Amino acid sequence: MSSLLTYAVAGVQALQPYAPGKPLDELEREFGIRQAVKLASNENPLGPSPQVQQVLREQTAQLSRYPDGNAFALKSALAAHLGVAAECLTLGNGSNDVLELVARAFLSPGTSAVFSAHAFAVYPLVTQAVGARARAVAAHDGSNGPSYGHDLAAMLAAIDADTRVVFIANPNNPTGTWVAAAELRTFLDRVPAHVVVVVDEAYFEYVEVADYPNALAWLEDFPNLLVTRTFSKAYGLAGLRVGYGVSQAELADILNRVRQPFNVNSLAQAAAVAALHDVEHLQRGLEVNRQGMRQLELGLAELGLAFIPSVGNFISVDTGREAGEVYTALLREGVIVRPVANYDLPGFLRISVGLPEENQRCLAALARVLAL
Ligand SMILES: *Cc1c(COP(=O)(O)O)cnc(C)c1O
Repeated sequence: MSSLLTYAVAGVQALQPYAPGKPLDELEREFGIRQAVKLASNENPLGPSPQVQQVLREQTAQLSRYPDGNAFALKSALAAHLGVAAECLTLGNGSNDVLELVARAFLSPGTSAVFSAHAFAVYPLVTQAVGARARAVAAHDGSNGPSYGHDLAAMLAAIDADTRVVFIANPNNPTGTWVAAAELRTFLDRVPAHVVVVVDEAYFEYVEVADYPNALAWLEDFPNLLVTRTFSKAYGLAGLRVGYGVSQAELADILNRVRQPFNVNSLAQAAAVAALHDVEHLQRGLEVNRQGMRQLELGLAELGLAFIPSVGNFISVDTGREAGEVYTALLREGVIVRPVANYDLPGFLRISVGLPEENQRCLAALARVLAL
C-alpha cells in the first residue's frame, strides 16, 4: 500500500472505485473506431426533450450567478407533479448524491447498511466510504422468488442492532428485477422504525408490471422511508446530474443538512423543470424502450442466449462464458456494453436498450463474436 493511502480513513483504503461505462470517445481513441454504439450506461437513446435544449440556451446567460440553493422552481414543479409538499424533497447532483447524503447522515464506523447481492454498486461504495459495514444479502435463487432478485425476507433477517440503512433498488440495476407491492409493504411494516429504507426507483417510469408498488403512496405511513428518483434515465439528462429523494419532511430536513448548498447547478434545475413538463417526449422514450426491449429479447432468444427478464431500460444476458472476453470483442466491433463481473455476475453482460438500429448492431455483433 502506498504510504499516503495508509493514512486515508479505513473505509476509503478498501474502496474499489465505481467503474463507469466506457465513453464513446475513449473507444474511438483506443481502438480507432468511428460510429460506435454505446449501450452501456442505461442512457436515453432519444436524448433530452427539445424543450430542454431551448431552456439551456436561455440559461447560459445567467451562469455567473449561483444557482438557487433551495431550487424553488424545480421543487415546486416536482411537488406538484408528485403530489407532495416541497419540504419532502431532497435534491441531488444525480440521485447518487442523495444516496451519499443518506450514508453521511446515518452511517458511521460501527454501523451497517444492508442491500442485496447483485444490487447497484453505489450502495457498498457510499457505505464503505464513511467507514460503515456493507452487508450484501444473497439474492433469490429462483426457488421462491425471481432469480437474482432481492430477497426481502432474507434482507429483513439480516438487519441487526447496528443496521441503520437498507437499500432496495426497484427495479434493480443490473438485474432488471423488481420487488412486488405486497412484498415491499410487508418488509416496510416489519423493519425497525429507526432503520432508513431507501427505495431506489431510478427506472420506475419504465416499469409496466401490474404488481409494481407505488412507494410514494406509503410515505405517510413510514417516517423512515426515502424514495429516490432521477432525471438521468427516462428524462435523458444523465450529463446534467439531477435526481431527488422524497420522504417525510423530517427525513428530508436531516438529508438537507449534509447537502452542499449548490449541489444542483442552475442548468440542471432549469432543464429538469422543462423535462418534467414535456410529457410527450417522455412517452416517446418509453415507447422506444418498450419496442427495443422486445427486439433485444427476441434477438437474444434467437441466438439461444439466456437473459434475466428486466422491467428497466437494460437487460443482462448470460454469455455462457467469462463475459470479459466477449465485452472486449464487442468493443472491437464498435459496440460498448457493460461487463457486470463486479456485481458478482461474471458470465453476464448488461445491454442498455437503444434505438432499433443500435439494438440490431449489438445483436449482430454478439452473434459474430460468439460465432452463433
Ligand atoms: C442509474 C441509476 C441511478 C441514477 O443515478 P444518477 O446519479 O441519478 O444518474 C440510481 N440508482 C440506480 C439503481 C441506477 O441504475
